[in-house]
Amino acid sequence: MEQTKQHLVIVVPCYNEEAVLEETTRRLLGVAARLEERQVGTHLFYIDDGSRDGTWSLIRRLSAAHSEVWGLKLAVNAGHQHALWAGLEVAVSHADAIVSIDADLQDDPDVILQMVDHWMEGADLVFGVRDDRSTDTWFKRVTAQGFYRMMRAMGTDLVYNHADYRLMTRRAVRALLAFPERNLFLRGMVKQLGFRQAVVTYARQPRMAGESKYPLSKMLAFAWDGITSFSVRPLRLFIGLGLAFILVSFAVIVWALAVHFSGHSMPGWTSLLVSVWFIGGAILTALGVIGEYVGKIYSEVKRRPRYIEDCRCGMPSDASAANTH
Ligand code: UDP
Ligand code: MG
Repeated sequence: MEQTKQHLVIVVPCYNEEAVLEETTRRLLGVAARLEERQVGTHLFYIDDGSRDGTWSLIRRLSAAHSEVWGLKLAVNAGHQHALWAGLEVAVSHADAIVSIDADLQDDPDVILQMVDHWMEGADLVFGVRDDRSTDTWFKRVTAQGFYRMMRAMGTDLVYNHADYRLMTRRAVRALLAFPERNLFLRGMVKQLGFRQAVVTYARQPRMAGESKYPLSKMLAFAWDGITSFSVRPLRLFIGLGLAFILVSFAVIVWALAVHFSGHSMPGWTSLLVSVWFIGGAILTALGVIGEYVGKIYSEVKRRPRYIEDCRCGMPSDASAANTH
């Protein structure tokens, strides 16, 4: 492996990131220069996820100025996971390994050097893991940690504190791309690939500029997707809850009969009303959960494209650019 030159592509999804891209490019090109000394050629691959600011024209300018910079523009915002997927799909035929990283430099780019070390030692997947969240806001830290705990409790196996900062070799990416689902939760899917996995840790930095593109509502939606795309444990929980209600209702029958035969008149109305509402609410919740899974099945069977390509820049032309129209 050491003799021949290896090729690395760094995939960076960008949504309204014009404030950070210049600095990101400077930092990543610095990493690329150091990798060059180790016989690893590097390209930066920016995926413009339907940004509404000047992100795409900036990517084009960067790509014109640096031959290492490639760009792919999606026609409409597809979401972080789908933009990343687009990058993997397009880059896989140009790379021996792919690193994915966020545009905002919260994940220390120098860690890529360690990821490459693990790759050279034979790992197929190298996960970047944050071991220090002290620069995040208290709220972000608590919600993020709650997220991992809840995911584990709900049966989704994740690398703790690993987001989408990772290195994958070409064969790992190809294996991932064979997953047919449309509801993407990459950090869970990647874990299931097996192969030889390694971990590198780093401290998480504050966002360099611009706002987080993951407000609480998107984070909750993401967590919900993570649970319902990966586990049927919530459905089982409701089966358990349903059985518990049946047991309770048996007890209520026994109690009601006992009261009846002891000759006391029953007020009745209150307890009836309460239980009707209670059971009704439980049934509605359970139906909602089932509906969520049915909805997932619906969106999977439609087999819609995960993203729509608009155009590319800076890349060597290849046959797979067919869906540009
Ligand atoms: N992102 C994207 N599409 C979206 C939302 C976000 O490509 O619809 C990108 C964004 O540009 C960034 C990465 O996903 O590179 C992570 O987003 P962000 O940093 O806002 O999330 P946070 O770090 O706050 O969780
Ligand atoms: Mg960020």
